[in-house]
Amino acid sequence: MARIPLIAGNWKMNKTIGEAVSLVRELMPRVQGLPKVEVAVCPPATALSAVKQELGQSRIALGAQDMFWEDAGAFTGMVSPTMLVDIGCKYVILGHSERRGRFGRPDEALSKDARKVFGDTDASVNLKVKAALRHGLVPIMCIGETLPEREEGRTDQIVAQQVRAGLDGVGAEHIAGMVLAYEPVWAIGTGQACDAAEANRVIGVIRKAIEKLAGAEAAGSVRLQYGGSVTDANAHDLMSQSEIDGALVGGASLDGPRFSQIVHATSVIASTMRKS
Ligand code: PEP
Repeated sequence: MARIPLIAGNWKMNKTIGEAVSLVRELMPRVQGLPKVEVAVCPPATALSAVKQELGQSRIALGAQDMFWEDAGAFTGMVSPTMLVDIGCKYVILGHSERRGRFGRPDEALSKDARKVFGDTDASVNLKVKAALRHGLVPIMCIGETLPEREEGRTDQIVAQQVRAGLDGVGAEHIAGMVLAYEPVWAIGTGQACDAAEANRVIGVIRKAIEKLAGAEAAGSVRLQYGGSVTDANAHDLMSQSEIDGALVGGASLDGPRFSQIVHATSVIASTMRKS
């Protein structure tokens, strides 16, 4: 079966409840009913419930930006998979690079850059992926190399390792229904998207790693997005690539018309090109 591309908006720590509701109101008529594309929005946790209410029966799906792997308990500040299901989430972004502790020791980092304090690792991402699947949520598992890793020629090795570790112990039938986002860390929020052909090549490497782990059927079904400075200007080029099954969009997803144009471009391409 052909893979339906998914365009998901990661709103990060943006939008009050009122602003979030206004944005989905703007989005719904623009992307409703477009063929061969699925759309999801991932507001901050505080706006999930209000956005879900606004979406009603709309075909735009709701996603969260992270979760903990336990169902309930003494975990101050955390959000559980049970809670996300309760709100009506379909997707959950897991292991976004802004949440992975890959950039230095937290105590060193705190004084310089508060973004470095989050501590996700491949192991915690794996626990979260399994918990999400147990609850029927679809994980959007993010992987990607840092700039030094790319410059050292280690990109393929890094993404293959992240696939193996993040999906360790996950059954092929579950992997088949998942989404992975290839997000080179150096491309996120920088305005410097990965060259489309290179993104396609790395995503091909990721698909091969999944095939090795879970077989050809799962590798042929799993959706592999690209993320990193996707805009309405480069979406056509990126989404035309044979291995790329949609996009995880940060900055441009905060703007209704720009995000809608990315969705439109993807729908047109998917209607003329079969990816499987
Ligand atoms: C992201 O946060 O996943 C992302 C890709 O951000 P941006 O589109 O702003 O680079």
